Amino acid sequence: MTKILSVNAGSSSLKFKLMDMPEEKVIAEGMIERIGVDLSQDDNVSIKFQGEKHKSRHAFSNHEEAINFTLAQFKDLGIVKDFDEIKGIGHRIVAGGEWFNKSVLIDDEVLKKIERLAAYAPLHNPANALGIKAFSKIIPNAVEVAVFDTAFHQTMPKENYLYAVPYEYYTKYGVRKYGAHGTSHKYVAEQAAQMLHKPLESLKLITMHLGAGASVTAIKDGKSLDTSMGFSPLAGLIMATRSGDVDVSLVNYVKGKEGLSDQQMLDILNHKSGLLGISTLSSDMRDLLDVYDTNEHARLAVNMFVNRVVNYIAQYYFELQGVDALVFTAGIGENSVPIRKMILEKLAFLGVKLDEKANDQHGVQTAITQPDSSITAFLIPTNEELEIARDVQNLMK
Ligand code: ADP
Repeated sequence: MTKILSVNAGSSSLKFKLMDMPEEKVIAEGMIERIGVDLSQDDNVSIKFQGEKHKSRHAFSNHEEAINFTLAQFKDLGIVKDFDEIKGIGHRIVAGGEWFNKSVLIDDEVLKKIERLAAYAPLHNPANALGIKAFSKIIPNAVEVAVFDTAFHQTMPKENYLYAVPYEYYTKYGVRKYGAHGTSHKYVAEQAAQMLHKPLESLKLITMHLGAGASVTAIKDGKSLDTSMGFSPLAGLIMATRSGDVDVSLVNYVKGKEGLSDQQMLDILNHKSGLLGISTLSSDMRDLLDVYDTNEHARLAVNMFVNRVVNYIAQYYFELQGVDALVFTAGIGENSVPIRKMILEKLAFLGVKLDEKANDQHGVQTAITQPDSSITAFLIPTNEELEIARDVQNLMK
């Protein structure tokens, strides 16, 4: 048994899961919020260990303070006796650019590259780098591994990752599609292959990570062929507050009309658009489904969300030249019975047959189509932390 820690340092949060590997057993997990942000009245620290939730409220001015506190809690709660029990640490890194097409052991050079890639993920990569430094100080003997959100998509062919803008923007500035959620798409694809009792390398899959952030990926022979997020996570599907694909010429037009700065316009596309923008009610799919029958804006937002997903499925169906299975995962994909139903019903003309009873579940890994459906659809809860821990373990060998 080896204790491996998965770390996900967000711009103002820190999530972790400590696991026994290769048993894949969770020892403890937790989340620290409001790092570098004023506290609210609510608890911002939550650590789950031996079935008990330990909640508290603490101010942290940076990630290092939050990490020091978390590790002190590891000892106070008896999660570990000695930090050296933790043999490996996997860090989720948002942007890996073209430098990283798989997970790697972290050394000074890797750390420098992660910091330089902040140009592509200004809120996340600096936090990721701070997390790495803070953990190496306290647990210097642990193997540290960087697991990139973009790495899985590095197999996309050039015709899929380039934008049709002057080619020199790619060579000079790295302007291309990088995608995201790679760890999640890879994990659910592996699980789908297991469910189908076939090697992943022989399958054509469309995986749908539908959370607050959302993306669809076409996977061929176990590799990402195309994905809906782009240069940044703003592209593709309609998300909680992100617009997804828009005609970029509306940007200048609206900026002029509203007198907005570049940053203000980008904030609107990232934080005030998507489900929230259309519904004018809420960014949370649950709220919109609650009033679907009575509120026209909520209904419009939900229908637009579903249509966009179906459009991407159609596109990837042709890019893949057929598909063996569709996979639903993340907050909406795992939990929303009506959204899965609406999406699959739009594919009925292809011979896709929803199994209503199987679909009426969440938190389980299951097929949700009937045995004679032309395409199988799965509900597969994602587990990015486990995928990270698996990568750490493989690299420790
Ligand atoms: P994140 O991208 O932040 O990791 P999650 O994958 O946790 O997001 O998804 C969060 C979203 O999932 C919420 O904003 C909400 O819209 C949606 N969600 C969660 N549970 C349900 C549910 N039962 N029905 C519909 N949507 C749900």
